[in-house]
Amino acid sequence: MNVVVIGASHAGVSFADAMRRHGFEGGLTLIDRLAGLPLERPPLSKAYLLADAGSDDAKFALRKGDWYDEAGVDLIAGADVTGIDAATQKVSLADGRDLAYDRLVLATGASPRQLPGAEGLNGVFELRHPDDAQRLRQAATSAQSAIIIGGGYIGLEVAASLVKTGKAVTVIEAADRLLARVASPVMSSFFADLHGEHGATVHVGTGVTGVTQNDGQFTGVTLADGQTITADMLVVGIGVLPEISLAEMVGAEAGNGIQVDEHMRTSVDGIYAIGDVARQGDAPRIESVHNASDTAERAAAAILGHELPALQTPWFWSEQYDARLQSAGIVPSPSENNHYVRRPGKRETGFSVWSYEGDRLCAVEAVRDPAGYMLGKTCLDRNVSPDPKQIGDPSFDVKAFIADKSVA
Ligand SMILES: Cc1cc2nc3c(=O)[nH]c(=O)nc-3n(C[C@H](O)[C@H](O)[C@H](O)COP(=O)(O)OP(=O)(O)OC[C@H]3O[C@@H](n4cnc5c(N)ncnc54)[C@H](O)[C@@H]3O)c2cc1C
Repeated sequence: MNVVVIGASHAGVSFADAMRRHGFEGGLTLIDRLAGLPLERPPLSKAYLLADAGSDDAKFALRKGDWYDEAGVDLIAGADVTGIDAATQKVSLADGRDLAYDRLVLATGASPRQLPGAEGLNGVFELRHPDDAQRLRQAATSAQSAIIIGGGYIGLEVAASLVKTGKAVTVIEAADRLLARVASPVMSSFFADLHGEHGATVHVGTGVTGVTQNDGQFTGVTLADGQTITADMLVVGIGVLPEISLAEMVGAEAGNGIQVDEHMRTSVDGIYAIGDVARQGDAPRIESVHNASDTAERAAAAILGHELPALQTPWFWSEQYDARLQSAGIVPSPSENNHYVRRPGKRETGFSVWSYEGDRLCAVEAVRDPAGYMLGKTCLDRNVSPDPKQIGDPSFDVKAFIADKSVA
């Protein structure tokens, strides 16, 4: 059997790894339009952005260079896949090559949304791939100030990294709080305060109505309330669009992601989708490293005819300044029925936020509190919900509660 994977990032590389670990001996080809050794993405807004331009990228590699040969994985880097013929089971590359497949895995990820009016200007950056981070890192060496549009995790991590290098940073978020789509209101306030304490200026509930420029060079933005803010550079972090064009080409069901079942099968025979680009059932599409490897494991098991791994609680992390956030589960949006309870951590500055829909625990987010995070994740994994009225009390013994439930 010949398996071809389009996209050699977290999902594609994890999939190839899982196939070999589970004993697959057939042909395995990974194709990516980016040249060079596939690198990890999370450091791009953190350590990679702060590293010297000349430092060795290899320490950020998803797998060491010799892993591909040793694992018998044919990595074709720097090659764009431009077409798929599902009837003859072939993919075509921009350089004219055709590759035959028995199973095809789409791990094409997502691309940043563009800010209208900012496209093509010097001094405007997005951040998704290593070459974006290199451009941003280079521009940051001479800039004094930066505007970040979008108060999601990536925007905030870039803001923290640029503040660390001494830039005057302004974050602009159109929603009424930071991290509105992914975090609890308690966590949104915590991060707004944290950025303020480190000297960043944060505007929430204000959209950008215009981008100003001088001879093709970005100079600033105008806000909905009429304010104008100037800066040397702009980073646009307003979310991503899944890369579904190849799936659409073969008629696979797709919209906000390529639609897959629990085996990660698309609606077209022999074609699977994993990672950020895939959407399972009617659940929200998840963008995280854990989801990339989890869906890769599922697709590998499905293709090899093995039992599917058990469903896992999704988890995520973020690092900003000295705060490490760990989050598990899906935080519900604020409503009358949903509530968010803060629980003190062992360290004075550590805490966790337990999010409930009614009495059902849905998510736990923890800052500087790995123990609180692990307890919360264990509750989510075991599908048990401590009483929301008790969880905020640090003397409430969550460990004993879990042990009790395990015996029951
Ligand atoms: C700056 C940044 C920081 C992040 N931080 C965190 C974090 O702290 N924690 C966390 O859990 N997650 C984090 N994430 C999210 C995480 O990196 C993504 O969820 C993960 O990269 C998804 O992997 P993927 O393989 O599905 O997609 P992607 O990483 O988007 O990779 C898709 C690949 O497909 C290739 N491709 C697409 N179309 C084609 C084509 N037609 N031909 C050839 N190649 C193609 C692309 O070049 C790309 O390499 C971060 C993401 C970014 C960008």
